[in-house]
Amino acid sequence: MKVLGIESSCDETGVALYDTERGLLGHRVHSQIDLHAAYGGVVPELASRDHIRRLPLLVRETLADAGCALGELDALAYTAGPGLAGALLVGAGMAEALAMALGVPALPVHHLEGHLLSPLLAADPPAFPFVALLVSGGHTQLMRVSGVGEYELLGESLDDAAGEAFDKTAKLLGLGYPGGPQLARLAEQGTTGRFRLPRPMLNSGDLDFSFSGLKTAVLNVVSAPGWHAVDAVDLAADFQQAVVEVLVRKALAALRRTGLRHLVVAGGVGANRQLRAQLDEAARRRGWRVYYPEPELCTDNGAMIAFAGALRLAAGERVAGDGEIRIRPRWPLTELVKPV
Ligand code: ATP
Ligand code: MG
Ligand code: FE
Repeated sequence: MKVLGIESSCDETGVALYDTERGLLGHRVHSQIDLHAAYGGVVPELASRDHIRRLPLLVRETLADAGCALGELDALAYTAGPGLAGALLVGAGMAEALAMALGVPALPVHHLEGHLLSPLLAADPPAFPFVALLVSGGHTQLMRVSGVGEYELLGESLDDAAGEAFDKTAKLLGLGYPGGPQLARLAEQGTTGRFRLPRPMLNSGDLDFSFSGLKTAVLNVVSAPGWHAVDAVDLAADFQQAVVEVLVRKALAALRRTGLRHLVVAGGVGANRQLRAQLDEAARRRGWRVYYPEPELCTDNGAMIAFAGALRLAAGERVAGDGEIRIRPRWPLTELVKPV
């Protein structure tokens, strides 16, 4: 079964072709970073317009890369939420229109389910059940994943998401937008231990997180008299270490609590090298194992949407097939159910 996936929930336009027999046959992502950089954040109206501009070409290119004709598609899958309503409508409209023209089903997919299942696209995927640490720009969650659509929330951030904390702190350090990856690069050149930053909720006894206080602590450092911009590398290193330490500690606690031995990390912050190194080391010592998506599939992409859609369709999920454009800008992951 060949499924074309379309992602347009925020500021990346992603298209991918996934074949249930042959795997990922092609994927393309267009990032709108340059478009929004001048505003320091995503401008929803501009995002929607750019998705409209890019999608038709990306669909054509993805199919050409894979040597697949439009008529060979068995289904479409699109991100229906959560995300920006106007941006979601573009991908949903495109997918539903194509599906109707081709006479094939179009499946609305949950963006976070896409992130969550993306490590299963790797060469050596984990088997269910596992614990998932979802660390993206909008979410920080620990889930127990027993199967497709079987997600139990174990804990989550009470305020900022981990990626959001990286981005906001990067802004405080005068880095460009979006600053998360730049902050991580800066941190790699720095030395930890110079700045005493908090480890929010490290010993809270639950699996929840809080990152907004960390950003405030950084603000206090950079606004104190005697702050020198040359120290930003070391402050970046200490900030990154504080986030990583909390994420590692809570992920390990989630494994202990559930009795599971496999951890899956998904979402943009999953690309962070320190997070990966420290999770791998901690898990190795306990005989546990950590799985990651391919680095390019950590941030938003169409491949994870095509894949999640294909898994659901293969499991027998039915599709309304009425051409209705289904988007759900606010959509808790825990409302998902097993494919039926
Ligand atoms: P959501 O999926 O919750 O709706 P999103 O789609 O915006 O949010 P992703 O695309 O998964 O999130 O990830 C983007 C986030 O990942 C940004 O906040 C970015 O700063 C962060 N990020 C990307 N690479 C790194 C890195 N190497 N280290 C730390 N953070 C990173
Ligand atoms: Mg993005
Ligand atoms: Fe995302």
